[in-house]
Amino acid sequence: MTAITVAIRIDLVTLFPAMADGFLQESVIGKAIDKGLIEFKAHDLRAYSKDKHRKVDDMPYGGGPGMLMSCQPLFDAVDALATPGCEVVYLCPDGEQLTNQLAKELAQKSHLILISGHYEGIDQRFRDRKVTREVSIGDYVLTNGTLPACVLVDCLGRQIPGVLGEENSLTGDSYNGKLLAFPQFTRPAVYDGLEVPPVLLGGNHAEIEKWRRERQIEKTKQRRPDLMKDQEHQP
Ligand code: SAM
Repeated sequence: MTAITVAIRIDLVTLFPAMADGFLQESVIGKAIDKGLIEFKAHDLRAYSKDKHRKVDDMPYGGGPGMLMSCQPLFDAVDALATPGCEVVYLCPDGEQLTNQLAKELAQKSHLILISGHYEGIDQRFRDRKVTREVSIGDYVLTNGTLPACVLVDCLGRQIPGVLGEENSLTGDSYNGKLLAFPQFTRPAVYDGLEVPPVLLGGNHAEIEKWRRERQIEKTKQRRPDLMKDQEHQP
């Protein structure tokens, strides 16, 4: 049996470690963690608080609604977990937008520390001093960063060689190139009067490729014309 080497270590610092553990123990990423390809651990931020009540938040200077996560537990958590060259990623709505490209880049790192915010967010001094990258999963606001962190782990995890089974490939995925995915069908060939396009049943691989490519272009033009800009498959 060939020994599996860990491709990436990921530490998540959150107020809700059970949320991440539940999500990430399932499916493809759960298997990659079980196999030891991804070393993942969710850490409870409260464990790093020096406050006797394990408090991790405080009121914002200058006033305003809600609470902010304070410096001390966050600084101490990162200091305890950091390794040379690790990337400290804060999940936040005002960060760089998560894309497949960014996930591929982060999948090349050997160690990520993901920071999940809560309440109104976190003290800017922690962001300035310790965070090396800020990532948003979309233009909307969630209650905390644990789900965004899981989305990031899922997205970058499937870029790691060996994580997807041989039967699954990244090549036909939306956003892998510049086009959206083509439509797919499985057995039976006719279901409730709905037929699979005949070209897919004929076994002519060149014809199938051509048909798929045309459908990709058609769908991308319709749904995401912005992706069609500056690319070679313009008609
Ligand atoms: N006041 C902050 C703002 O408007 O930018 C939002 C704080 S939000 C209620 C609490 C936490 O959820 C954030 O600190 C962040 O970690 C996480 N979060 C919410 N939406 C997110 C998104 N779209 N992408 C990544 N993280 C998000």
